[in-house]
Amino acid sequence: MATTVDNKLTGAAVQEKLSEKELCPDELLAGQEAAFARDIERLQARRAAFVTVPCPACARGDFLPTLKKFTFQYVTCKNCGTLFMNPRPSMEVMAAYYGDSENYRYWAEHIFPASEAARREKVHRPWLEKVVAYCRRYGVPQGVLLEVGAGFGTFAALATVSGNFDRVLAVEPTPQMAQACRERGVEVIAKRIEDITGEVVEADVAVAFEVVEHLFAPQHFLLQVQRLLKPGGLLVLSCPNGQGFDIAMLGSVSLAIDPEHVNLFNPHSLALLVEGCGFKVLEVSTPGRLDAEFVHTAIKEGKFPVPRDPFLKRVLVEEWDRLGWPFQQFLAAHGLSSHMWLAAVRR
Ligand SMILES: [Zn+2]
Repeated sequence: MATTVDNKLTGAAVQEKLSEKELCPDELLAGQEAAFARDIERLQARRAAFVTVPCPACARGDFLPTLKKFTFQYVTCKNCGTLFMNPRPSMEVMAAYYGDSENYRYWAEHIFPASEAARREKVHRPWLEKVVAYCRRYGVPQGVLLEVGAGFGTFAALATVSGNFDRVLAVEPTPQMAQACRERGVEVIAKRIEDITGEVVEADVAVAFEVVEHLFAPQHFLLQVQRLLKPGGLLVLSCPNGQGFDIAMLGSVSLAIDPEHVNLFNPHSLALLVEGCGFKVLEVSTPGRLDAEFVHTAIKEGKFPVPRDPFLKRVLVEEWDRLGWPFQQFLAAHGLSSHMWLAAVRR
């Protein structure tokens, strides 16, 4: 690993404890799982249109088969350690998948409305505080904030009413989602980022939460974002860390391994990718709060065996109530959680 990048790995600020149940109520989970299963079947039926790609972070072509899930193959780049789906749905197949996804419709109609208040307070408010803290730490003006892939608009709405930025703009191409943003009082550009040409968007800050792991060509996406930022403008990304605890432990059992997450970068490889797209990386952190709980729950529900290792068994099972949360804080502070953040400035 390149030391220049590793040196930018920062300890995550210890945050309030979070539980998975707060974000997706149990009674809605079955409906979501059924919708997702039908999406996966449709994707499997399009396998003839899958394509083989080089590493999405470093563009090298040397990789090792690592795991399979839902019959899809994931490989690890021998150079940078990125875990990625390969072969993967072509750009057209991906666009069709998101266009008619039952899972997304289910989220929009059921899960988001039922959990929006919890998400706003437990997830999006800390995100906003983190973005504002980056601006202050690195002297970036809190002028125009651009959220790319704004989805339901919860974050953008919160940012809008917070008054932390002069103007908040959301980019959201899915019509129903763009409408949801408008209903929340958010100014929306209902286009794909590639298609934003006419409007003059000169953003001080661009954020993309949980977006880059879904993209066929993340490098192309980052170059587009770079184009919409002022020189010295701040880029903030969040995405899974493919080398984080729950993914490393659970492998294909991890919820982070799904057909939508075609790129599972790590702190090193994400920084490499971002630096290659005209940015200077400021810091990478892994402030995740759920890894240990995911593993604990998988064991409890019989989806994953009780660890043979007595140490892990003690932490994750026998003394879970005492050690689970401090262990999670340790993971978060040392770049070992599966939830990752990166901050960079446009060169
Ligand atoms: Zn690579």
